[in-house]
Amino acid sequence: MIGAVGAFWDLSKEQRAEIEYENFLAMVTHQLRSPLTSVLSALELFERRNLAEERRAELWAIIKTEGNQLKKLADQFLEHQAAAKSALPVKLEPLSVAALVRQLVHQFQTAPSKRHFRIQAASPEPLVFADSDRVEHVLRNLLDNAVSYSPTGSRIIVRIKPQDENWVDVSVQDRGAGIPLAEQSHIFQPFYRVPQTSTRRIYGHGLGLALAKEMVDAMGGRIWVDSEPEHGATFHFTLRRAR
Ligand code: ADP
Repeated sequence: MIGAVGAFWDLSKEQRAEIEYENFLAMVTHQLRSPLTSVLSALELFERRNLAEERRAELWAIIKTEGNQLKKLADQFLEHQAAAKSALPVKLEPLSVAALVRQLVHQFQTAPSKRHFRIQAASPEPLVFADSDRVEHVLRNLLDNAVSYSPTGSRIIVRIKPQDENWVDVSVQDRGAGIPLAEQSHIFQPFYRVPQTSTRRIYGHGLGLALAKEMVDAMGGRIWVDSEPEHGATFHFTLRRAR
């Protein structure tokens, strides 16, 4: 660890990258520990005899939830590594982002997410120059978050509209608790999570938005959030307009 902030910036780019990578690994290890401990403790209790059926079901639910969390962390970690090494080349091709949104929203609607989705696309629907795998990843992440951080039964709106001659703006709006202004610049950093005040614990590792930002950056666009606490959050990203 480097003590003074200045000292960090005096190092070469390679040395800084190495420290960032070590910090990143330390964070991943830290994030792995908590779900692993939960799974192992639940398994240990599970082996006890004379466990009431209700208690078994509870333990089973813990194992399932935490197991899924471990899988999500491993997937995001690998994707982060691939993105950091630019292992996956960016293919910018003409794409109907509205068609992709419809396909994804359909999947979210059929899953038991219990949110009302609406799509608003400008007419004629704008075409973009983008990497469809990356756009899908970003959208999936923003839709996942919109569901996780908003109340059951609330509305989520996805909008697709030209921003100007060169860019198309895609946004996902939810009616959740929103994000305080002071936190908004941090949420795109790896592992950053806004401290949770409510008693409902929302699982996550703080990697999703960092990955989304890497992907939007790689396509030359921008990603940001507009949010007034208690009025929900609207995440925007821009994609190059195709003509
Ligand atoms: P995760 O959701 O796994 O914690 P993300 O990187 O996707 O990680 O998000 C980082 C943080 O930003 C979240 O922990 C949460 O505090 C905040 N956040 C993201 N999306 C929303 C949203 N739609 N509404 C409110 N807060 C959000």
